[in-house]
Amino acid sequence: MRISLTLLILFSPMPDFSIGVDLGGTNLRIAAVTSDGQLLEKVTLGTKVIIGRNQVINEMCDAIQRLSAKYKSTGKLLGAGIGVPGIIDMATGMLRKSANLPGWEEYPVRAEIERRLGARVVLENDANVAALGEQWLGAAQGVPNVAVVTLGTGIGGGIVLNGKIWHGMNGMAGEFGHVTVEPEGYPCGCGNHGCAEKYASASAIMRMAREAIASGEAPELAQAASSDPEFGAKSVYNLALQGDEHARHIFRTFGRYLGILLADLINVLNLDMYVIGGGVSSAWDAYAPNMFEEIRERSLVYAATAPADLPSSDSSGKEEGAAAQIEGRSERKTIITRALLGSDAGLYGAARAAAVLAV
Ligand SMILES: [Zn+2]
Repeated sequence: MRISLTLLILFSPMPDFSIGVDLGGTNLRIAAVTSDGQLLEKVTLGTKVIIGRNQVINEMCDAIQRLSAKYKSTGKLLGAGIGVPGIIDMATGMLRKSANLPGWEEYPVRAEIERRLGARVVLENDANVAALGEQWLGAAQGVPNVAVVTLGTGIGGGIVLNGKIWHGMNGMAGEFGHVTVEPEGYPCGCGNHGCAEKYASASAIMRMAREAIASGEAPELAQAASSDPEFGAKSVYNLALQGDEHARHIFRTFGRYLGILLADLINVLNLDMYVIGGGVSSAWDAYAPNMFEEIRERSLVYAATAPADLPSSDSSGKEEGAAAQIEGRSERKTIITRALLGSDAGLYGAARAAAVLAV
């Protein structure tokens, strides 16, 4: 029995594969991934997105063709998924708006790449594919319904329902970064005031650091900012770790606003899991206690569904009254956790989006 099973594995053809493309970062990254989630190859091209649309598309198509030629003996190419920063019109496969990709709007991106590759192409928002990646192979593996909040320069969001990206009517669902958390707050580029990404993102951390420095009462922050040419959100986090009260205060504020956002999402969506990803998410221990405190205070759904054993970083020591009452009565708990795949989430998710489309 064991021998025949081994032979079966040896002689069964490799599963089909798809290509995932991450156009969101500074470099163009491309991966070939099998339909059961194995990475065949990952390529990072030196191509800077800034060199312009045509050259980026040329180099992307060349690399996709190289990868598909290399692995075509092992399985069929199901298609390519491309994660793009910006708002995408799913019906036309065009970018409506993208701050990072000037010159790409109103250009038939998907049709042009499909023409060159002769394969099915899906264009997706980068936060949506990151959410799908975490749901497929990351923190939410095996969890059907999940929202992923990606904390970077801004806040990205994606909702996955029954293993598929929830696009909304025309692909604009999941704009968590522009949920209002402070009605009279800072103006946002979107036209609103007090958007979540103005309070719980890397740029929010830098804004709070600048304000603290300008007040003249945060000498350690001022010293770090003037001596470190790379001064950024990570520097503020390092100061918080060293116990600097102003840096710690910044992350407490950050956690509080992130908690307000999550409480709203939990109340509205009642999903199995909420995953926090993106570069800033790694400062978890600095913001999570305040985040959880805020969620407990503001979300009745969380109060009724919080797991009894909170993460060790949640050290507020509060009684989980509602949670304790339902303990043992139901296993359906709201889980809030950190992402696992880092910057690869979008690559895997883009490949998955193409594979799902091909089914
Ligand atoms: Zn906004």
